[in-house]
Formats: sequence, structure tokens, C-alpha cells
Amino acid sequence: MVIDLGNIFVADGSVVPLNLDFDFDDVEYLDVYPFKENAFFKGNISNRAGVVTLEGCVRCSYTAPCDRCGEICSEPLCVDIEYTLVQRLENDDEKDGFIVVSDKQLDIDEIVLSDLILNVPMKHLCDEDCKGLCMSCGANLNLGECSCKNDDIDPRLAALKELLD
Ligand SMILES: [Zn+2]
Ligand SMILES: [Zn+2]
Repeated sequence: MVIDLGNIFVADGSVVPLNLDFDFDDVEYLDVYPFKENAFFKGNISNRAGVVTLEGCVRCSYTAPCDRCGEICSEPLCVDIEYTLVQRLENDDEKDGFIVVSDKQLDIDEIVLSDLILNVPMKHLCDEDCKGLCMSCGANLNLGECSCKNDDIDPRLAALKELLD
């Protein structure tokens, strides 16, 4: 969605509330499509004494395979968004938190999506206590112990066992 900022830039004191939802289910990231559910943005664009700001928060859920067991799981993702919108930058080395909209057309989809991706959790687990997969047979240990568990003898004990045999 592209928002025309023409009126906001000239109207000091104006506030435009935004309640938007986005469909990012065709966005691929790290070989999966993590945004299966719609993302909601609630916030506003305001002009306070000539400073135009986009602020609000976006909520969605992040769906991907668990890092340990590979089961597909989702977790909520909420990201605060705050940018100052300018038609040009006066000072080139002060870019953080600024978005240049020289044509006064704000592509909000692009901003929301890039902020979501930047905030994707580094660690994604189905459960903090996920037991993961058995190293030898690949069984999902959350579903119960596998049969090879008992054969998993400490190598020092294995050497001792060989001596005794
Ligand atoms: Zn897991
Ligand atoms: Zn096993």
C-alpha cells in the first residue's frame, strides 16, 4: 500500500490514524514462508511542528521449523516502528530512523516487511525445553525416547566392556 503524504507534509498538527493489515504469506525467508498469518499495523502518521513521523507497532506471527526438532511452530512477533519521514536529508550521515520520501509517496508494505524480517528471532524453538532429535536415529525425542538410547554407552565404558569380554 502506498500512502500519499502530500497533505500531511503541509498540514502542521495533522494526525492520520492507520489500521492496516498486510498479507505477506508469499514472502520467502530462510527457505520458508514465515508470515502465514496476516500482519496488523496500528499507528499513525503525524505532523508535529513540521516533523512528520510514522509510528506504531506491527503484530504477526512467525512460523518456521524448530531449530532443534524441525517441527513447524509459530511464535508471536511484535515490532515497534518509528521513523521520521523527510523529503530529503540535510545531513548525509544521519540516516538512522529517517525515511526519505522525495515523491511524498510512502510504500508502507516495504517498511513493515523489512522491519519484521530484521526482528525475526535468532532462536526459534517449539518449546524452550525441546529435546530435539536423536543423533543416531533421528527420532523426535519430544515424542518419547527412542530404542537406541540404551545402546548409547559412554566410550570409556565401552573400552572397559571390551576388556572384560
Ligand atoms: Zn522443537
Ligand atoms: Zn535414537
